[in-house]
Amino acid sequence: MKKTAPQDSAGHEKSPDHKELGAQLDLFLFSDLVGPGLPLWTPKGTILREALDDFVWELRAKRGYEKVEIPHMAKKDLYEKSGHWEKFKDDLFRVKTREGHEFAIKPMNCPHHTQIYSRRPQSYRDLPVRYANTTMCYRDEQTGELNGLARLRAFTQDDAHVFCRTSQAEEEILKIWDIVDEFYSTFGFELSPALSLSDPKNMDAYLGDRAHWREAEDTLRRVVKKRKANVPEVLGEAAFYGPKIDFMAHDSLGRTWQVATIQLDMNMPERFDLTCINEQGQPERIVMIHAAIMGAIERFLSILLEHTAGVFPAWLAPIQISVATVSNEKHLEYAQKLANRLTAAGARVWVDDSDESVGKKVRASEQQKIPYTLVIGDKEMAGEKLAVRSRGEKDTMDMTPDELVAKLKRA
Ligand SMILES: [Zn+2]
Repeated sequence: MKKTAPQDSAGHEKSPDHKELGAQLDLFLFSDLVGPGLPLWTPKGTILREALDDFVWELRAKRGYEKVEIPHMAKKDLYEKSGHWEKFKDDLFRVKTREGHEFAIKPMNCPHHTQIYSRRPQSYRDLPVRYANTTMCYRDEQTGELNGLARLRAFTQDDAHVFCRTSQAEEEILKIWDIVDEFYSTFGFELSPALSLSDPKNMDAYLGDRAHWREAEDTLRRVVKKRKANVPEVLGEAAFYGPKIDFMAHDSLGRTWQVATIQLDMNMPERFDLTCINEQGQPERIVMIHAAIMGAIERFLSILLEHTAGVFPAWLAPIQISVATVSNEKHLEYAQKLANRLTAAGARVWVDDSDESVGKKVRASEQQKIPYTLVIGDKEMAGEKLAVRSRGEKDTMDMTPDELVAKLKRA
């Protein structure tokens, strides 16, 4: 039977579904025992998650961010103070301790991070303080709303918070905008930003007073102007604690997704009494910027999987090189030595030592969307260079192991 690509009712090739791709490439799964909305990550999927997170971290480290870490739950009191308890009580997973204390599993990280910032008086000289923390958050979504990796009960935010003076907010937001641009352009996403503002007719939906909102919204308008970006203003789309710049990504299938967001928050600092000691030795109220780049790694991966149909750039591919032996008896030892050498040089290598024909091994490598395949037979063992087959190409290229490893680096 001839296999054809799945088609929709209009006869167009159907876009690949990230859940199917995830199973085909062995990246993640759901278990009935663990529960809906709670994905589990295989070794390959974990490599992918970490490579993405490392990339974001590289972009942040250059701009002065520091990593912090927090526990996954906190007392009810923290979320009462932040306002989350009031606004999102139904979405919180609550835990009662044996002593009768009420806790919640964290739905976000900002309240915890405020406590790290305020552990000691902060001088204006030390600002901005920039905390990055890739960590899971948990929300009690209803079963019917769950959708693969796109909507989950447990998801990983590549979260960051910048604590700075009002006068520093513009520059910090511009820096985050640079990170967003660099990250998404690497994958060929085109971005269109939007300014998400409060709805003046419905101010009850937001924390804090009108003056703070106006100031924050004007700051974001100035950022947009500096960036010379064509950015529409959307009323009523702000977070409950502040206005934000939302970025939509356009994928290879012509669809649009909301991805990164930069939020300027003057309310959380008010609620948690966050200050710096200014030049006059007086406490001065600061602002807080929330800046996730991927948002949730899982949701970003659902978009990236469908955007690339699982064909990742070599630097990101969970397996970068597969080694296919013509005969295990004659070539496996050499193949393994070569694989060890490439692995030591930083490559992720898989030796296909199954008893299948070499043609089948090459096809398996193609199906797993592995960027490079090396066939090892008598001729290759005798030659000085490797015969490297790029995914989707018929012909091989001759190169040294070092040249091959250089191709695995992010440009
Ligand atoms: Zn936050």
